[in-house]
Amino acid sequence: MTDTVLEVENLCKSFGGVQAIRDLSFTVARGEVLGLIGPNGSGKSTTVNALAGVFPATSGQIRLGGTPVQSLTEHGRVGLGLTRTFQTASIFPEFTVREQITLGGTVTLKSHPLSSVFGMGRDASEAEALRARVQDILDLTGLAPVAEQTVGTISSAQQRFLMIATALAARPKIILLDEPAAGLISHERKTLADTIKAIRDRGTSVLVIEHHMALIMEVCDRIVVLNFGSKIAEGTPAEIRTNRAVIDAYLGEAV
Ligand code: ADP
Ligand code: MG
Repeated sequence: MTDTVLEVENLCKSFGGVQAIRDLSFTVARGEVLGLIGPNGSGKSTTVNALAGVFPATSGQIRLGGTPVQSLTEHGRVGLGLTRTFQTASIFPEFTVREQITLGGTVTLKSHPLSSVFGMGRDASEAEALRARVQDILDLTGLAPVAEQTVGTISSAQQRFLMIATALAARPKIILLDEPAAGLISHERKTLADTIKAIRDRGTSVLVIEHHMALIMEVCDRIVVLNFGSKIAEGTPAEIRTNRAVIDAYLGEAV
C-alpha cells in the first residue's frame, strides 16, 4: 500500500489550439497539503478540473490510491475519495447547515461502490457515526455556532466554509480547493488556514490553489508552480520563496 494518494503523470489538456496544461507531473502524499500557484491563466483551474473529471485530460495519467481514474466520471472519482469544492453557494437554502453537511455524507455513502453491501437502510451505528462526523466537521470549520441556522441566512464567508464542510463529509482522501480565500477578510483567512491544517492533521490530503501567498506559505508542505501550463518549480515554501524562476514569473521581489 502506497502512501501516495494522488499521482499525476505527464498530464496535458488542450482547448482547441490552447495548451492549458503541458506535461504536468506531481504527486500528493497522504496527509499532505500541496499548493498549486502561478500567474492567472497558467493552468491551475484546468488542472483541478481535469483531476476532478469535469472534462477529460487530453493525455496523461491520473491515479488515485494507485487506481487510474481517467475513465471515471466526476461522481465516480468522489466515490474513490477525490472531492472538490464547488463555486455555487447552496443547492438547498432552506436546509440547516447541519443538514447540508449531513447530506454531503449521505450522498457519498450511496455513491460509494460498496454501498450496495450496506443496502438501503443504514443501521443505527452507521447513522450515529455520521452524526459524530458531522459534529467534528462543524467544529473544525468553525460552523458549530450556526449549525442550526438555514443555509440561506449565513454569511458568504460561512457559505464558503460550508462548501468545504460538505466536501469533507464525503470522507475524501484528498480535497481540492480552488481559491478558497477569495473574498475572505483577514480573520476569516486565519480560520481557513487553521481549517486546512486541521483537515491535514486528520489524514486527508489537500490540493490548494491560492493567490494569497501568506496563506500558501503558512499551510503548504510543498508547492508546485505553474507558468504557461508547465511546472517551473516544486519545493517547500522556503525553497519556492527564493526560487529565481518563480520570483521572475510570479512572486516578484517583494515576497
Ligand atoms: P488559472 O486557473 O491558472 O488562472 P486556467 O486553468 O483557468 O488558469 O486557464 C488556463 C488556460 O486555459 C487559459 O489560457 C484559459 O483561457 C484556457 N481555458 C481554461 N478553461 C478553458 C475552456 N473551458 N475553454 C477554453 N479555454 C480554456
Ligand atoms: Mg483559476
